[in-house]
Formats: sequence, C-alpha cells, structure tokens
Amino acid sequence: MLQVVRTIALKYNNMSRAQRLTFGALLFLTWAMLVWQAAIYQPQTEDTIPPISTTTTTSTVDDSQTADNAEPMDQPTPDDDIPKDELDEKIGGEVVPNEYVVSSGDTLSSILTQFGIDSSDVYLLTNKNPALANIKIGQQLSWTLNDDGDLQSFTWAVSRRETRVYQRNGNAFTETINTLKGEWKNNVLTGTLDGSFVSSARAAGLTNSEIHAVTKALQWQLDFRKLRKGDRFSVLLSREVLDGKSEQSQLIGVRMQNSGKDYYAILSSDGKFYDREGSGLAKGFLRYPTPKQYKVSSPFNPRRLHPITGRVAPHKGVDFSMPIGSPVLAVGDGEVVVAKFSGAAGNYVAIRHGRQYSTRYMHLNKILVKQGQKIKRGDRIALSGNTGRSTGPHLHFELWVNDQAVNPLTATLPRSEGLIGKDRSDYMALAKEVIPQLHL
Ligand SMILES: [Zn+2]
Repeated sequence: MLQVVRTIALKYNNMSRAQRLTFGALLFLTWAMLVWQAAIYQPQTEDTIPPISTTTTTSTVDDSQTADNAEPMDQPTPDDDIPKDELDEKIGGEVVPNEYVVSSGDTLSSILTQFGIDSSDVYLLTNKNPALANIKIGQQLSWTLNDDGDLQSFTWAVSRRETRVYQRNGNAFTETINTLKGEWKNNVLTGTLDGSFVSSARAAGLTNSEIHAVTKALQWQLDFRKLRKGDRFSVLLSREVLDGKSEQSQLIGVRMQNSGKDYYAILSSDGKFYDREGSGLAKGFLRYPTPKQYKVSSPFNPRRLHPITGRVAPHKGVDFSMPIGSPVLAVGDGEVVVAKFSGAAGNYVAIRHGRQYSTRYMHLNKILVKQGQKIKRGDRIALSGNTGRSTGPHLHFELWVNDQAVNPLTATLPRSEGLIGKDRSDYMALAKEVIPQLHL
C-alpha cells in the first residue's frame, strides 16, 4: 500500500498543472464513490457474494458496528413480535419480570450481568453490602431497572420471614431489612375448570401472583390452553396472615387433573419444583442453536452505544457468522409462535418454551416450521441466511427470560436433572406429606 502511495506521489510531482487537476478530480471521484457505495450498500438478497468491505473508508467507526455478518446498528430487530396468550394478558400486569431463583454455581455478579446489568452497578450494590455474598441456592432475587437499564432496587428474599431491599440512592444502595411478624398458615384451595384456568383459579380464591406461581411450576408438563371444562386442580399454599390479611404466600405443591391424568409439582428446598418421583420438570436447553459452533460476529450487548448518534442501540442477541444454508436447531422443546418474513429480521422464527422462556432466530434463508407447530430440542427449524437487514450471512439468536433478553452464551439454562442422594430422600419425605393434602 505504502509503495502504491509513493509511486502515485512521484508521478504526481512529474505532472503538469492540468494533469494534476484531472488526477485530483479523479481521486476525489473514486473516494466519493467508495463512501457513497458504503453508505447505501444494503444487501437484501440471498446471494453468497460477500458484502463490499467498508474498512478502507471508515476507519473511525468501531469494529462491532462494521463487522461483517451482523445487522446495521441503526436498525433494531423486532422484539415485540411474540403474540401474548390469555395467561400473559390476564396475569401479566402484576408479574415482576426480573426475578430469579439462585441455582448452584451462581454468583450475584454472574446472575445480574447475564441479564445485561452493568458490572459497575453490581459493584455499587455489593461493595457496601457484603452480606450479599451469602446468597444461597433456592433463594428468590428480584430487581427493577430504570429506562436506561440502570439497577434501581434489588430484593433478596433471605427466608420466609426476612426480606432485604437495596434501594439506589445516587451512587450507593441502602439496605432495609424487613422482618415479617405474621403467622404462616397452610391453605388448600381446590377448583374445577369452568372457562379458563385463570378465571377458575380466581374463583377458587387464588391471587394473581399465586396463579402465576402455579403456571410456572407446571409449565414444562402441561399446556394450560389444553385444559378442559371439568378438569380439576388442588393447590397447597403457605400464606402469611398479618392483621387478618394475607400478606404474601408461597406455593408448596399443586396437582392438576387433565382428562383424568394427574400432574404434580412440589417445591423442594432448592426453590425448584419436582414431580412425584423427584424428577426435574424443566427440560434441558442446548447452549448453541447449531450442530456445531460458529464464530460470534457480534456479541450480546444491551447497552451498546451507537458511535455516531451516541444513543443506546441494544444488541439483544448474539450473531453467529455462518454460511447460508447451515442448519438452525431449536434449543429446547416448545411451540413455534412466529414463522414468517418480518422486515428487518428477514425470515424469522420465534419459539416459546414453557411460560418463561422464548428464543428468536433471524435472517434465515429458509423456514422449515409453521406457526403453532410443537417442536423438540434439537429439531431443525430453519436454514441460516442473510435476509432482512443484514450485512453478511449470519444467524441472529436471542434468548428471552421473563420478557427480557439475556445473554444466550452465559445465561443459566434450564436443566433437566433430577434430585439424587440425600436431596432426593429429603424431597421424597416432603412429597409424602404434601401429596395427600392435594385432594380434589
Ligand atoms: Zn444480531
């Protein structure tokens, strides 16, 4: 390159004034063409010709934006396309979206950063509150964010009686310890389906958050929309009563009878629900939506800043660079809720897994499934492509938990393991007490 510049410079020195002007104009035109081409280049087709490299003309723009095989940053991919069903509509308003049950191997930092919370916020929260290093498996955490994605408050349910709340106050989080003095009482509520599950459960006396807990506990076993009139349920709740009012409650066990078949979910001391045999109810997920691993061409980054506008242009998924036509797999069992061409997303598939999880696959070349289709983990759902707003062949993959995009490469995925050893025998002893109470 340097050699070329030197040659041009030498030739330029030997030129007449007219020649110099013509040469200068040509140079300017070439430069203008390059810039113009780079600015308007928007591949829409499925051809395999790699996009024009823009690296020679835009050296000031950061790599993550111009990297081939990604989306242009100013075109966010759709994130509200997944149709809501009746359960979402009716109980959605009161559900806390950011909640998490601590699993083995988690740290507070690993939990919060996988939800896209900045590590500086995690530091602010923990540096003055060392007790937070003691979170334990099975404890429930929840938090709220402001519109910029900054952590505002964090709640740690230490035990049934104690909840610690950390509220942001400028650059510090102040701790409040709430100890509840009410009395916990077990209640069994039973009902028969007449209309939807939500209305029948309300008629039986369950609150919205209790209905949410039931649908979550049974999400891997049962499709709530398949319940029929006459199906029966029984729910064991531990409710705290203070001044005659129910303050909060915990689901201990649930039995659902659908067309004569019984489904159970019973809470174990690890905060998760298991069936009558102590088998885990969650189905395992694949980490990668492809049979082999491909290079990440653009990482998950909910706080990505647009280098020119300075605005937050979140990248809610991971881009994997791969040749057009590579098989794309469903990462878990579920139901296809979107399978269509969708503007910037190109050919687009979304899958719902149970009640809390969904995955999205974009820029596909060919869709191999239909909306409403039930699929299993590992099923081929599409062939990858370069459709929609895409600067090169790649798969854009998103994982959503409780209506929030998380980093698919680091998120804690549902596991299908059952209980073993002492954990299992403790659980079986507990289940032996709970099951007889779940009468219909
Ligand atoms: Zn992407």
